Amino acid sequence: MKSYRIATIPGDGIGKEVVPAGQEVLEALAAQTGRFTFEFENFVWGGDYYREHGVMMPADGLDAIRYKDAILFGSAGDPAIPDHITLWGLRLKICQGFDQYANVRPTRILPGIDGPLKRCGPADLDWVIVRENSEGEYSGVGGRAHQGHPIEVATDVSIMTRAGVERILRFAFRLAASRPRKRLTVITKSNAQRHAMVMWDEIALEISKEFPDVTWDKELVDAATARMVNRPATLDTIVATNLHADILSDLAAALAGSLGIAPTANLDPERRYPSMFEPIHGSAFDIMGMGLANPIGTFWSVVMMLEHLGEMDAARAVMAAIEHVTANPATHTGDLGGTATTRQVTDAVCAFLAAYSAQAPQVA
Ligand code: NAD
Ligand code: MN
Repeated sequence: MKSYRIATIPGDGIGKEVVPAGQEVLEALAAQTGRFTFEFENFVWGGDYYREHGVMMPADGLDAIRYKDAILFGSAGDPAIPDHITLWGLRLKICQGFDQYANVRPTRILPGIDGPLKRCGPADLDWVIVRENSEGEYSGVGGRAHQGHPIEVATDVSIMTRAGVERILRFAFRLAASRPRKRLTVITKSNAQRHAMVMWDEIALEISKEFPDVTWDKELVDAATARMVNRPATLDTIVATNLHADILSDLAAALAGSLGIAPTANLDPERRYPSMFEPIHGSAFDIMGMGLANPIGTFWSVVMMLEHLGEMDAARAVMAAIEHVTANPATHTGDLGGTATTRQVTDAVCAFLAAYSAQAPQVA
């Protein structure tokens, strides 16, 4: 029987609540299908580790997870530690260390959830945002001089490489080609950012020639925010730089109903390293430790993990469980206007999975 080695890294805040919930769902799934098992190893890295050791994860931490089949991540962010330390010390260390250059963020309005864009057009909202995840504005290049003096200076330099831009655009065109509408919008800002973004545009045109069946257009990032609200049905697959897509995907999550639902995959498409799956939300300081976090974003991330592992039937089963549970207002958490707890949502998903595999032998 196939056994998948999964590293779980809950991190901080509600990450410590939603990642164990995600593990429970995977365990329930494995028990029901009987076709594969998961071998979990948990890594207690993050803010608490930092308080004890002065770093978010050990220096050789990547070696401990390098040979896993996938990583399930929660959140990095602690009320008592500056955000740039928690982010760079853990999440970006893994994304960049494993060259997970494609960040993929699907957006759909799930049954039972009232997002601002519900019934926005002839078809239901169905977007995938592809975020460049290895360079650009978050390359970490820059510095500070004259600190504390009136002439203090600071720079964050955005780095775009031809290889980096080619690979993310090619990934996005390929993804668009695999989806029913075969439509890609390339987000840019080449009117104001007149070097790297102009190269980005040029490379988009070059790569588009490899995908003649994909209909594509270009949109400036500011105009894209308005288009997402006013003409959402004109969008399908969207590709943008690290910073631009970071912002657009939070907007997309809010338009679909809540940050608590949205998943993301940090992929190494070449599979040289493990890919990492996580909800897009952060540590949620206001509700952490209370058992009130919505685990759906993590469960949907688990769906993406199963798809990456090639377990398509299992992925469909978990997605069906998620949609069954969101359709019922009694299992809505506070972010969706309900009163359900993380425990109740998790139990409902696991219960559905047990019944689903009983009725649907293709999953068993
Ligand atoms: P956040 O996502 O933690 O919270 C924003 C708001 O959404 C809060 O009101 C929170 O309660 C709510 N929310 C988020 N997820 C929820 C869920 N699953 N269920 C119910 N409600 C939910 O964003 P923030 O407040 O900007 O950041 C808090 C900390 O998290 C910061 O330290 C930040 O750096 C970190 N962060 C980490 C990641 C990551 O690791 N990928 C992402 C975003 C923020
Ligand atoms: Mn973000």
